[in-house]
Amino acid sequence: MESFNELRERVARLSDVRAAAAVLSWDQETYMPSGAGEARAHQLATLQQLAHEMFTDDELAGLLDRAAAEVAGHDADSDEARIVKVLVRDRDKAVKLPSRLVADLARETALAQQAWAQARQANDFPAFLPHLETVMALTIEKAEALGYEDTPYDALLDEYEPDMRASEVRTVFAELRDELVPLVEAIADCPKPDDACLRAGFDENAQWRFGEAVIADFGFDFDRGRQDRSAHPFSTNFSTTDVRITTRVDHDFLPPALFGTLHEAGHAMYEQGVDPALDRTGLASGTSLGVHESQSRLWENMVGRSHAFWRHYYSKLQTDFSTQLAGVSLDDFHRAINRVEPSLIRVEADEVTYNLHVMIRFELELDLVEGRLAPADLPDAWNSKYEQALGLRPDSDANGVLQDIHWSFGLIGYFPTYSLGNLISAQLYDRADSDLGGIEAQVERGEFGPLRDWLREHVHRHGSKFSATELLQRITGGGLEAGPWLNYARTKFGQLYGL
Ligand code: ZN
Repeated sequence: MESFNELRERVARLSDVRAAAAVLSWDQETYMPSGAGEARAHQLATLQQLAHEMFTDDELAGLLDRAAAEVAGHDADSDEARIVKVLVRDRDKAVKLPSRLVADLARETALAQQAWAQARQANDFPAFLPHLETVMALTIEKAEALGYEDTPYDALLDEYEPDMRASEVRTVFAELRDELVPLVEAIADCPKPDDACLRAGFDENAQWRFGEAVIADFGFDFDRGRQDRSAHPFSTNFSTTDVRITTRVDHDFLPPALFGTLHEAGHAMYEQGVDPALDRTGLASGTSLGVHESQSRLWENMVGRSHAFWRHYYSKLQTDFSTQLAGVSLDDFHRAINRVEPSLIRVEADEVTYNLHVMIRFELELDLVEGRLAPADLPDAWNSKYEQALGLRPDSDANGVLQDIHWSFGLIGYFPTYSLGNLISAQLYDRADSDLGGIEAQVERGEFGPLRDWLREHVHRHGSKFSATELLQRITGGGLEAGPWLNYARTKFGQLYGL
């Protein structure tokens, strides 16, 4: 195991460089003074380049080959075999991209992000269009360089959801859409729950304390993590012993801080739950965006927006915010936090309509990448799809095609993972529910340990050892399915809206 051990040492140093870059990025979003932007960009670029050189180094290739021979006799699911397998996979991808293309993408997406921010502000799609055309062309070039069997989209999706194919996503999304559109229409015909109680003005420190108390109950480990403020909530990790989350607090609207905290804690508990033996191996992190999102949404929505959860916590919330909530019943509060309403903006969408926003983007990305749609025709295509799926036509491109930052970053193939997360969360929840003999009663008693430990055992501890498809196979014996989430949505929202 001489080569394997040397490989581990090299990868440990590589992981340290990547972690250092992640600390700088975290700091940039939280505490860095605004004047430090340019210096920080240099520091990050240097560390990222260093990491890229360490990973694509020729000596590492030879070492990987020799290590692969050494672990050939090991169990295919052992840490050793999987460390080599995942490193080979990721390195193959990294060396397939010519450095000229990597540099072009870095430069053009940096310009596109600035252009996007201005274009969105000014509601000026034509100003963003040339940048979008350039980024799309480079992204398609990237897909060609990475290679694919069926569609270039597969190569892009693989960056965020290894092993998943566009055809699989297309199939489950079609099933999801067939049921979702009528459900949204049926809900739209019902009287709207009043959510004024969520807009009564809430002390920011009290909101912060309540959220942190809940995630401490969930099992977020504050000795190995912390929460800070940022403009956009996120989670990041530097090791299994240092996982950071952020949230934003809105004095005039209760949900963002509370549910943002629960959401990011779901991501963070995944990272905190990885087997420490995988630290500094390149596998000590969540396996894909879809599986990551399954963890955040499970804790935020399936647990945090459930009636059982609020049977446990509502009296505490009422005590903390007695002037605002004293006259609001548990049922009315629960209806308010689960209000469903078709809207134009994805990030403000409720649990049910959210998936329709994602599907629209997935369909448009497929059309763009496969050459059926020109970027110039995007606004019309976008608006028609919103009208079809949600019954709303955007009043402006700022509230339409310009609303998301992703495409300016070159993140094509990323959006579907949000909905994959929803679907996977329900598949995992159902299995945990039958293994644990009823999660709802435990949640009502404020007992989150059994669910957290189940997730740790079946999902978290493996880090990146298994892809989403492999994890689902191990846990459920099958693949990705829309049925469990549809079942969950029909039951929950059927009861809430008396359908
Ligand atoms: Zn998330």
